[in-house]
Amino acid sequence: MFIFNLQKSHRFAIVVLAALIYLAFAWALVDAQYVRIRGDFYLALVTIWLAGVVALCWQGRALEVSRTLRVVFYRLLWFNVGSVVVAVLVPSELRFLLLVVPLFGLLYASLRLHQDRVVFIAVITWLSYVTSAAVLLSVGVVDTAFEALAGVAFSFLLAGTLYFARDLHELRRRAESRHQHLERSVAELSIAAMRDELTGTFNRRYITEALHRHKALADRDRLEFTVCYCDLDHFKRVNDELGHVAGDRALVQFADLACGLVRSMDYVARFGGEEFLLVLVGANEAVARRVCERLCAGTRALVIDGRPDASQRMTVSCGIARYRLGESVEDLLQRADHALYEAKRGGRDQVVTAGD
Ligand code: GH3
Ligand code: MG
Ligand code: MG
Repeated sequence: MFIFNLQKSHRFAIVVLAALIYLAFAWALVDAQYVRIRGDFYLALVTIWLAGVVALCWQGRALEVSRTLRVVFYRLLWFNVGSVVVAVLVPSELRFLLLVVPLFGLLYASLRLHQDRVVFIAVITWLSYVTSAAVLLSVGVVDTAFEALAGVAFSFLLAGTLYFARDLHELRRRAESRHQHLERSVAELSIAAMRDELTGTFNRRYITEALHRHKALADRDRLEFTVCYCDLDHFKRVNDELGHVAGDRALVQFADLACGLVRSMDYVARFGGEEFLLVLVGANEAVARRVCERLCAGTRALVIDGRPDASQRMTVSCGIARYRLGESVEDLLQRADHALYEAKRGGRDQVVTAGD
């Protein structure tokens, strides 16, 4: 419905309009001599109440959430007190129609406010009713027995509404916690969808998507990038000699090393098993070679599984390919893979650039 999509300023205009209509209504009640106190006094009361409602709506227009909630509390308090007071002062047939308004106020409060505050508003609403009825009784214009019964009826209505308000509050709390749980799950899932579980680097699916994104950028804006295909040498031996768990730890160590060597806009991804892909954004072959040489040196220096002996040292081979305008991601990876193959063939622990 359009009223839920209105801007705040439009909603405020509607509040002002509703206040003016209510004022006209009060005027008509006074004119028809339907109010039980002096007409000018009744109109003054209604005007003060409506001015307060408008002022509180104006105040809450541009506030951040925490302060908005405080304004909602004062707004509902004022709204309920005023609507009860002005309802009690009109003939009883009309009074009970108008008294539905503060009950809705209470239900709305349960959706927005803490339960203590809802109870507080209910108590003040009840006190407003009792005080207004007492004023009426003291000026002697009403039937005492009827007022007593009406007071009891309103008290029951208020208590019943408070009971439902509590349920509503509980429902809202549960919906909120489910929503938070869902948000957390979505966040976890989106991390799981892009990260490799063991090393925390990007996974193959994510890096493939990123490569397509960067290809599009490069084709459009000439933003170059270079990929480095890195494969740990004789990694099978690490597993065979130290065990699979130590092999896993070595993969994590290597991934951490690679992540520490690239800039925040670059990517490190585990492309499969003991193969990693570095995507260096805005870098040419020379920059990529420097990064890979540092990676080779860092890998040689890694101490695997707390064993510093030279026989347990790891090495890595890297194949570099700079993106050529218009080529496919598959072709780019194939060139990098071919360069990697050359590095393996050349004796491992070295860097080869495609096209060298
Ligand atoms: P090369 O120098 O030719 O690359 O030799 P390599 O032994 O590294 O290559 P190969 O393809 O023969 O073996 C890869 C090894 O990587 C075998 C496999 O057990 C190991 N590996 C793959 N994924 C994982 C993993 O998640 N954890 C561990 N610990 N080892 C893995
Ligand atoms: Mg391999
Ligand atoms: Mg290998």
